[in-house]
Order: sequence, then C-alpha cells, then structure tokens
Amino acid sequence: MKTSVQGYPRIGRNREWKRLLESYWSGELSEASFEQEMKKVRINRLKDLQESGLDLIPVGDFSLYDHMLDTAVMFGMVPERYKGPAKNSLETYFAMARGSQSAPACEMTKWFNTNYHYIVPEVESGWVPEIVENKPLTAFKEAEEALGIKGKPVLTGPYTFIKLAKGLEEEELEGFVMVLVSLYAKIIAELHEAGAPLIQMDEPALVLTMTEAEMTIVEKTYARLAELVPDAPLLLQTYFDSVSFPERVFSLPVDGIGLDLVHDNGRNRQALQENRGRKKRLALGVIDGRNIWKSDLEAVRRRFPEMLELAADVILQPSCSLLHVPVSLASETDMEASRKKGLAFAEEKLGELALLQQGPDAPDWNEHQQELAEFYEAHRQADEERSVPHAGRAVPYAERKQLHQEKWQLPLLPTTTIGSFPQSADVRRTRSAYRRGEVSEAAYSSFIREKIEHWIQLQEDIGLDVFVHGEFERNDMVEFFGERLDGFLATQNGWVQSYGSRCVKPPVIFEEIRWEKPMTVEETTYAQSLTDKPLKGMLTGPVTIINWSFIRDDLPKETMAAQTARALQKEIRALEEGGIDMIQVDEPALREGLPLKEEDQAAYLDWAVNAFRLTAEEADAKTQIHTHMCYSSFEDMIDAIDAMDADVISIETSRSHGELIHAFETNTYGKGIGLGVYDIHSPRIPEASDMADMIRRALRVLSPEQFWINPDCGLKTRTEQETVDALKNMKKAAEEVRSGQ
Ligand code: GLN
Ligand code: ZN
Repeated sequence: MKTSVQGYPRIGRNREWKRLLESYWSGELSEASFEQEMKKVRINRLKDLQESGLDLIPVGDFSLYDHMLDTAVMFGMVPERYKGPAKNSLETYFAMARGSQSAPACEMTKWFNTNYHYIVPEVESGWVPEIVENKPLTAFKEAEEALGIKGKPVLTGPYTFIKLAKGLEEEELEGFVMVLVSLYAKIIAELHEAGAPLIQMDEPALVLTMTEAEMTIVEKTYARLAELVPDAPLLLQTYFDSVSFPERVFSLPVDGIGLDLVHDNGRNRQALQENRGRKKRLALGVIDGRNIWKSDLEAVRRRFPEMLELAADVILQPSCSLLHVPVSLASETDMEASRKKGLAFAEEKLGELALLQQGPDAPDWNEHQQELAEFYEAHRQADEERSVPHAGRAVPYAERKQLHQEKWQLPLLPTTTIGSFPQSADVRRTRSAYRRGEVSEAAYSSFIREKIEHWIQLQEDIGLDVFVHGEFERNDMVEFFGERLDGFLATQNGWVQSYGSRCVKPPVIFEEIRWEKPMTVEETTYAQSLTDKPLKGMLTGPVTIINWSFIRDDLPKETMAAQTARALQKEIRALEEGGIDMIQVDEPALREGLPLKEEDQAAYLDWAVNAFRLTAEEADAKTQIHTHMCYSSFEDMIDAIDAMDADVISIETSRSHGELIHAFETNTYGKGIGLGVYDIHSPRIPEASDMADMIRRALRVLSPEQFWINPDCGLKTRTEQETVDALKNMKKAAEEVRSGQ
C-alpha cells in the first residue's frame, strides 16, 4: 500500500504565496526576485510533503494562479486580445488571469461544487494547439534537482480541460479533445522518459452527469493515448462525486483509477466491488479532502476491509486535492486544545495517511483515536433536534401581499438595492484597526453610524423606494454571522484559496448552532430611525451559511441548515420587535450547492428550500420577506424558487437575462421579483435607456405588479460615485417605464 495526495495547498503556511503575488503585481518585486522567492515557496512545500513520508509526491499541481490557466497557456491557448508579449511570459499569464489595460480578464467560474474558481479556457478560431512548455516536466525536474524527489506529475486531463472550456459547440468537443491528445502524448512520453513513476490525469468531469456520447469521447481519448504512449503509467483521477458509467471507466486502458470514496453517496464503493480485480492500480480517496475534521481511522478500516485485495497496487489518498483545506493546524495557537483535537488540516491529513498505511499497530494510532473520542465527548453532545419538519408561513402569499400593499403603498416597480454599499478604503481600514484593538468599540460604532447616515441621505437624494443600511459593519456575509452565532468558531489562519491570490477563511461549525443575541438589530434600527422609507434588514440565509462554512461531518447538512434557520428565526423576531418589517434573507449559495449528479438534486432542493421556509416560518404575515441569489443560471430552478415562498426575490441576471425571461414565459411564478437591471461587476455606468429597455422586456412576461427594480448584486466593490450615478440612472429608468414613455 502506498500513500499520495492529488494536490496540496499552494498558499504556504503563512500565505507567503499570496504576499509574493501581490507584491509582484504592485511592482514592489521584480520579476527575477518574484521567480526566485516563488521557487522557495514551492520547494518548501515539497519538503513538507517529503518529510511527511508520502510515497508519491505530486508535482505540477502548484500554480501561480490556477491550474486550468496553466494548462491553457501550456497549449498556447492565448486569446487574440492578449497578443503582444510572449505567450509563455508572466505578463501574458497574469493578463489572462486579471485583465490588463487593453484586454479584460478571462472569465472565471467555480470549480465543480467547490468555492475554488478557475480561469475558463477560451477556444478561439485562430488557436493553433502547440506545446509552449512542458510545465509538468519542468516541475518534475525541479523537484528532482532540489530534493531528489521523483514526483508524480499532475495534469488536467484532456477531456475535462476541453469540457470546461468555452467557445466551442458541443459537436466540436470530440475534435478538440482528439487534437490535444497527441500533445498530451508528447508531454506524457517526456515525463515517462524522465522517470515519473506515475502520471496523474485529473478527469473530474467524469463525475458530472454525462451523456453516452461524452463517455464515448472519453473512451476514444484514452484508447488513443494508450496507442501513443502504451507504457506510460497513467492514473485516471476523479473526485467530488462518483463516476458516471463506472463499468466503462474501469474498462479504460489506463494503469489505474482514482476515486472519491467520501463524497460519492456510496456509489463509487459499489462500483469498486463490482469491478474488483479489474485494475492493476487503485487510488482510493478514503479521508475527506474537503473538510477539516480528524478522520476516524478505525471507521475507515471498517468501511474498506477489502481494501488490500482490491488491486495489486493500492494508493491511499484524500478524497480530492488538499487545495480545499487550510495548510496546517500548527498556526492555530489560540484554539482550545479540546477543539484542536478534532481537527486535521492538510498537513495533519498527511499524517493520517501515514497512520492508515501503518495500521493499528502504529505507535500513534491509539493516541489519534483517543483524541478523536475526547473531542466527540466534549463537543458533539448537545444537539436537540435532528429531524426537520416541513415548514412554511401560516398566511398565504396572496393575503400577505395585500397586507404589505396596504401598509407601504409602494409605487409600481419599486426601486431598491441588494444590501451592501461601497466598502471603501476607510471602511476596511477602520474595521481592521478595530479588530486589532487600535480603535475603540465606541469609536468604531460611531464610524459605522456616520457611514449609515451618509448613505441614508444618498438614498433619499436618489429617491429610492426601499432602503438598506449598507452592511458597513460586515466583512464577509458568512463570516459575520459565523462570529455571532453560537456553535461556530473562526480559525486564526484557516485560509483556503478561493481565486487567484484571494483566500477565504470559512467559519467552522463545532457544535449545535444557536442564536445568542441580536446580531443585526442595532445598525438596522438605527438606519430605519433616519428615514420614513421602509428599510430592509439583511440576513444571510441558512443554506449559504452552511455551504460556505466547514460543516460537521456527524450530522446531515439538512440538520445544520435547520439549526441555522431556527437561529435566524430569532433574529427575524428581534428585528420585528425593533420595528423592521422588510427582511432580506440572502441565499447566493443555494444554486451553487446543487449536487453535481442530477439524481441527487431533488433531495438537495427539498431540504434547502425547506430550510429557507423554516427561517421565515414565524415571521409576522405583515413582514415582507425578501431573498437574493446571485448565479447566472436559474432556468431549471424556478419551481424551487417559487416554493421558497419569499415575498420578493432578486436574482442576478445580467449575464443570462434573455434565458431567464424566456423561462418565465412558461411558468406561473407570481410573487415579487427583481431581475437585476445592471451588472454591478463592471465599473461602467449603465444608461437609463438600456435599463428601461431591459425592464420593458421583462414586463412582457412578468406583471408590473410583481416587478422590482434593483442592481443585480450588492454594491460593495464599487466606488461611491459609480454607485450614485448608476442608481440615479436606474431611478430614471423606473420613472420612464412607470410613465409609459
Ligand atoms: N446582501 C449582500 C450584499 O449586498 C448580498 C451579497 C451576495 O449576494 N453575494 O452584499
Ligand atoms: Zn448577489
């Protein structure tokens, strides 16, 4: 039995990777020193892997930004708009990632169902596939020279790479994959010749719901590779769910298959049993690569008693690359020992693999299991409720609507915003100073009040119909609630790469989630006291809080979402008592959490929608519940959105407006809805006439009685001037349409 990992965090123990990138981008660091310092980060990281005793050390999974971008650049897939600097220059690479003066960045999107974002490769008609540089080979040689490591090169496989690219039609998929295969063969041949013991081909796209035709392309791809490089030891690596077409995957002419045995709903395990003995090599993802809990090694052994007999060669691994967990528990110096006992970050997971390999006779085995037992004893006892009843508001929408209309008498097509206003430099500076203890509680809260006053006045000037307080006191919409709800804990250094140099620090759910005291009432009621216009309270919804946290592994997500929902019920009550009766419960991550496999989606939507309904269940009929989602494809979710039973939903649609409006033609959705009328991601000030057109288009399928006018997401990344100008135009557009112009 061997051990390996599919990939390891790039950011370094203290995010030194991030700091180097940012110093280089800002011009503080020359290209030469940047390269030199980065090499140190890379080598230190390899050293950690080597010292852990891992048998197969990944190389080439490190990246200066993103592995999909690396692959695109390696094959000369550089869009025309970046032509100028050499194709393999850092300048081109970062221009694609971040945009340049003359060319906008490549699109970025979520990597499967994770919060990691990759750069979407663009296929352009002028693209001549070539190998600009055999990057995995460079990485392999570097590891060998520096530390004598014969690493396991990691490549994004041809099928996944092209499947996730844009700019090609479905029927072109096969053609492009086959063109790339010959280039892959060359890269693989060189790696094989250099002595790579195993070559990992990442093909996570095999876990999506695939068509017959797509599976045939995968078969042709690997058949062709087997012809071109018959002796190269290829490991076809999948993760994040079970493989579609397991029989056929096991028949592919590769040395080995890598499977996720944690996030597979039990399906991969079954496939393994049914295909016993068919593969020479199996890489088994037996410990959770996406969460941060210590593994119960006894349980792993119990679950896979036949592990040893499955193949001649078994490799023990995490379920996926450790990119998705923080680097090391060693930096959590403030955390209570009793909690720390329950955790394993990337580095500790390497230790777990080593223990699993050695078995229960290993000297540290008992201590590991003992610590886990103590952790459970101390932190996993309190939950009151595990089953979740079906929930919903007592008074139906039609009646609520009347009550709301009587109370507020809002004009047709009411105008509002999504919640946040610009988090300008002074806001961020003052908040960090406050966090460091350099600004007193009183000074901080009066600073926040001033911001609120300023923006209430601006909203009055613009003439919006429904106000917000602006969220100046919040850093991140999940972290903020994680810090205030019982059961969550923030880590000191639990950073995970989200996109480029940006890292997030998801809160950790240790215990039962409970409401302790009001979290948002003070700022919200203060803002409301400054205006006669209705003002929306802002909460983050239960599904989003769960999806963007490290969640417990001993409870179903559904139960944690329900606990969060019950906690938020209390916050809604507290806001109502403070006189706030429009409350927005944001669920931007609801769509993103949709399982990869179609067969799992209905069950997810069922509990996710129910958690939202539970949150609003006890709200007074007179309270108007809003929600907001930001993701560009909702066509398949309108029924679920309807079932959420929010009085008003706002959806980010600037990128798929047409399709969504089309979807409403055949649907009977009748509640309040705001389809964002302009894209907040762009600094461009939208024209009133463009927005008016957009509204008129929507009004062909939606009634003016139900339509709200708002930007498509929060405004925290914009400047004050951009925000005010854009909102003034938005208001003008609303007036134009109202007066029938
Ligand atoms: N209310 C939040 C804001 O305006 C919503 C953010 C989001 O949808 N991601 O910032
Ligand atoms: Zn949004």
